[in-house]
Amino acid sequence: YKINKEELVLLEELGKGQYGTVQKVFHKPTNVTMAMKEIRLELDETKLNQILMELNILHKSQSTYIVDFYGAFFIESCVYYCMEYMDAGSLDKLYGEGVPENVLAKITIAMVKGLKFLKDELNIIHRDVKPTNVLVNREGEVKLCDFGVSGQLIQSLARTHPERIQTDTYTVQSDIWSLGLSMLELGTGKYPYPIPDKKIGMFAQLSAIVDGVPPVLPEGRFSAECRDFVAQCLNKNPQNRPTYAQLLEHPFFEKYEKADVDMKSWAEQAYSSRKDLLKQT
Ligand code: ADP
Repeated sequence: YKINKEELVLLEELGKGQYGTVQKVFHKPTNVTMAMKEIRLELDETKLNQILMELNILHKSQSTYIVDFYGAFFIESCVYYCMEYMDAGSLDKLYGEGVPENVLAKITIAMVKGLKFLKDELNIIHRDVKPTNVLVNREGEVKLCDFGVSGQLIQSLARTHPERIQTDTYTVQSDIWSLGLSMLELGTGKYPYPIPDKKIGMFAQLSAIVDGVPPVLPEGRFSAECRDFVAQCLNKNPQNRPTYAQLLEHPFFEKYEKADVDMKSWAEQAYSSRKDLLKQT
C-alpha cells in the first residue's frame, strides 16, 4: 500500500529529530494513527526512488521488537517515513533516575531480539543504538526504530549533513557496544561518559572512551549476572564481544526470559512521571 500526504491528518508534533520533525498523524483510509518522520535531504529523483525502494523491503518482514513501517513518500527535498505510533515515546524520557533490574532485563531482551532480527532477516546493522531510538507503548511493548535500512539514505544523510561524524567501520560489534552503553544509561539514569560541552571537548570524551576502563553497572542495585552481561558487551576488543546468539544464552537472559515483569504498569507510571516533569518546565 502506498501512503500519500493527502490521506494524512496532522495531529501534533511528537519531537524534533536531527533531520526534521516527527509528527503524530492519522491515516484516513486505514484509520491508523501513525508517527511520521520528516528527513530533509537534497537529492535527485533517482536517488529518492532508490531510498523508497530500499525502505520498502521493510514491508516484507515484521517483528514485535521493531517499530512497524507503514510506508514512505517524498515531497520536494524531504522523505516522509510513516511508522507505528508508540504512545509512551522514547526510553530516554522514561528512564528517570534509572529503571529497576527486572525492567532493564525486559528492555534488553527486546533490544537484543530486535537487533538479531535486523541482522538475520534483513542483513542490516542498526548503527544508532541508544535510548532515544528505543520506543515504548503503554502496553509495555519495547521496540527499536531508526535503524540503517537504506544504504542510499545513510550515504545521502552523510552528504547532506557532513557535521555528523560518519564512520564506515561500523559493525555488529559496534551495535553490541552501544547496547552495553544504553543499558548503563537506562540502569543508572545517566550517560556513562562525560558529555562534550564548553569545558569538556570532543577529544576529551573520545579519549575517555578509547583509553579509559569501560564503565560498569554499580554493585548492590544490580545482580552479578546483569553486571556481567553489560561488561561482556563493553569488552574493549570488539572480537571478544559476544554474538546475539550468545547474549540470548547469557545467565542474565535465562534469569529474566520467563520472569513475569509488569511492563505495562512500568510504562504507564514512567509515562505519567514524564508528563509531570514536562509540566514543571
Ligand atoms: P533523532 O533524529 O534525534 O534520533 P527522532 O527524529 O527519531 O530523533 O525522534 C524525535 C522524537 O520523536 C523522539 O524523541 C520520540 O520521542 C519521538 N518519536 C519518534 N518516533 C516516534 C514514534 N514512532 N512514536 C512516537 N514518538 C516518536
